[in-house]
Parts: sequence; structure tokens; C-alpha cells
Amino acid sequence: MFGRLAPGGAPDRRWITDHRRRPKVPQEAQHTAPALLLRNITVLDGLADEPVPGQDVLVEGDRIHTLAPTGTLPLPAAASPGRLRVLECAGLTVLPGFFDCHVHMSTCPDADRFDTLMAPESLLTLRSVPALAATLDAGITSARDLAGADSGFREAVTAGHVRGPSLQIALRILSITGGHGDWRTVRGTPLDSSPGAGVVADSPAGFVRAVREVVREGADWVKVAATGGMTSPRRTPEAGGLTEAELRAVVDEARRHGVVGVAAHAQGAAGIAAAVRAGVRSIEHGYLVDDETLQDMGERGTYLVPTLSALTRPVGAEGPSRDAERRRRLRETALERLSAALTSGVQVALGTDAGIAPHGRNLRELALMVRLGLSPAAAIAAGTSVAARMCRLDDEVGSVRAGLRADLVITDVDPLADIAALGDPGAIRTVIQAGRIVKHTVTAPGIGRAA
Ligand SMILES: [Zn+2]
Repeated sequence: MFGRLAPGGAPDRRWITDHRRRPKVPQEAQHTAPALLLRNITVLDGLADEPVPGQDVLVEGDRIHTLAPTGTLPLPAAASPGRLRVLECAGLTVLPGFFDCHVHMSTCPDADRFDTLMAPESLLTLRSVPALAATLDAGITSARDLAGADSGFREAVTAGHVRGPSLQIALRILSITGGHGDWRTVRGTPLDSSPGAGVVADSPAGFVRAVREVVREGADWVKVAATGGMTSPRRTPEAGGLTEAELRAVVDEARRHGVVGVAAHAQGAAGIAAAVRAGVRSIEHGYLVDDETLQDMGERGTYLVPTLSALTRPVGAEGPSRDAERRRRLRETALERLSAALTSGVQVALGTDAGIAPHGRNLRELALMVRLGLSPAAAIAAGTSVAARMCRLDDEVGSVRAGLRADLVITDVDPLADIAALGDPGAIRTVIQAGRIVKHTVTAPGIGRAA
């Protein structure tokens, strides 16, 4: 649901249908390639807890055409030579292409801040090209960029100019003066003039205008700073961000323009609670969430994107630390609170904060979520079907089901037995994006090999 509940508490599905935004399929994939048959593969569909072995999956055009027990497909028109490519997949598992719901594709985790400030825009953009490719190769076929990437990134992937996950974008973070997105010196000199620089406002009316600005620039999501953050210039994670009245103004205005939802960067308990009450669709980080708010999130269907990859990176990795000890303590508390969150039944979507965390290691997040209490199957759902639902794309991607777009990954590891193994991009043998094979590494002789 978005924002408020409809009378009676049910989500307003009409609104969702009317306003759904569907990223276009990469043009490169709008092809007339032969149909593709994945023969004798195990299917983990991102919804069920149990895998289904011995399946044939037929892909035609950009769609999953049929799933059936091996050998039972009639293969009508596609069976003529040159019209069907067959991959022998015994011992392999197919999953939906994964989502990373919190990335910053234009940010480089180990870039020096001064160098970034002095760099020409083109360098910063071109630097993102390998990051986009690495993200796709790690098994991420869809991503939500929560500041930094502008609509050019989204369109370049769609047009096939670069390899990468299809993107929903937020462009900028909306912040109060002195808040998490206000990157100015004490004297007010802007430190960030990139397309992803924060938008600063200080009243509900100011934030309405800020929403209109990012919508004008092509935002699919609106991102707000509901609290400070670990990497804030002046604020602590517990510090306040937008007031509840300002958050409500953002949610209402975003809804009027039919964006997918509002994503709230929120780390301290009070700011998380205010953002949830105001009706945001996703809480980003959620580090110090309290039990009352978890209950509220469960009732409203608010999503949590815990970004454990960023939280668990070594203290000090974020640059010269003013007080590493305080950060270490905060991290311990955050891990306890997120463990409570992940076992509370709130809807969890996978997001890493790649750009702060490394690019191309996105699926390490799965094992981190399992360590904090999700089952391996639930972690996979968080990265596939649940993420697709949060992004309002679940009738298009996020599962292995006939009729959906063929965004798929194939692995030679058993994801339920060894979830951590998926975190190694080498374990992602094949990536299929909109029916087209965009990564393919043959495993053992005869396996995964085109027949
Ligand atoms: Zn972030």
C-alpha cells in the first residue's frame, strides 16, 4: 500500500494499478533470438520455501513461456532447428533475477571525497559503467538507486548502451537544513554539485516544491532524510530529520504524482516512527527501530530495507572517523534491533547501500540477513518477490512464473544449503535479462552447455 490505508484498512489497489510505473525492457533485449530451454533444472521461484527439481523452463522472447516437468513440454513452433537453444542444466538451480533495493550506482566506495569534488562530471559517470556491469554479473537484474543516478543511467540501461540492472531512481535525498542531505560547509559553501546532491527545504510547502523538482527530473521514488546518519556531516543517526508534518507533505505530494513510493533514510527510533506514521513505503536502514514501530510497520505493510552490507563494513571504512568507538557501539545496538525486526514478520526487501558498500558483491546481503534471523528462503524472497512487490513490479518480475519477464539467474550452488555461496559472483553462472543471456559461464563438461 502507499501512504494511507483505504477505508476499512485494505490497501487501495486501484491507485496502485493506475499509477504503476514499469521500467522499459532494455531495447537490446527486444530481439528475435531463438527460444531458450533450460532443461532439467531445479526451480527456486522466490515465493515457495521448497525447490522443485527436474523442471524444463521455456523462455520465448522476453517472457517465461512455460514451466513443466522435464521432457513433458511439447515445444511446438520453437522446436525447429535454429529456433531453440537448449541449456542442459542438471545440477543447477534457477532463481528469479535479484533486486538490490538500495544502491548508489554513481558513488564509488573508496573514492576520496576531495578527488570526487574536483572530478569532472563525465569521469564520475563513466566510473559507474563497470559498477553497473559488476552489479548485473552478481545476479542483480533490477535495482533501486536512492540518490546519485539521474534518469540518464536508467535510460542508458534501457537503451542497451551499458550493461546493468534495470533501474528505478530517486535522484536526490530531500533533507532539512543541517540534515543528512545538506552537504555544505559551516559557511554554507556547497560541497556537492552533482546530480545527486541533496535538496534542502524547511517547511511542508518547501518539501512539496522539492518533491515536484525530483519528479520533474524523472524520479520513480522520492527519498527523504527522516534522521541523521552514520556518515552525516554533522548529525548523528539519532538526530531528527524532516518533521512528521513535512514527511506527510512529501507522502501526499509524491502520491499525487504517482511515484512508486517514498523511501525514508531513517536510523534513530523517533525518526523511523514518524516516517512510518506519515505513510512512507520503505524504511532504509532502520537501525534503531523500536518494538512499537515494528508493530506499526507490520500493520501498515511498511517495508524495511536493512542495508546490513553497509552496517557491517569495518568501522573506519567510511573515512577518517571522529569517534570509532561510538560507531562500534551503535553498530552492536543496530544489529540487535535489526535482528528483532527481521524476526518480527515485517516485510523485508534486500538492499545493500552499494556505493557505500562495495559494488558487485550485492548478494552477500543474503547471508547477513540469515545471520540475523531470516530463513534462507525468506532471504531469497526478500531479494526477489518481496522486493518486486515493494517496487510495484511483482506482476512483471521477481518470480519464476509463466508470463513474467525472463529475468533469471542460474547457479551451481545449493542456495538453501549454503546461502553465503551466492554472495560470490562466481557462483552466479548465468544471468538472463528479459530473455537474453547477458552472462554465461559453463560449469562442468556438459553442464550448462548449449546442446
Ligand atoms: Zn544509501
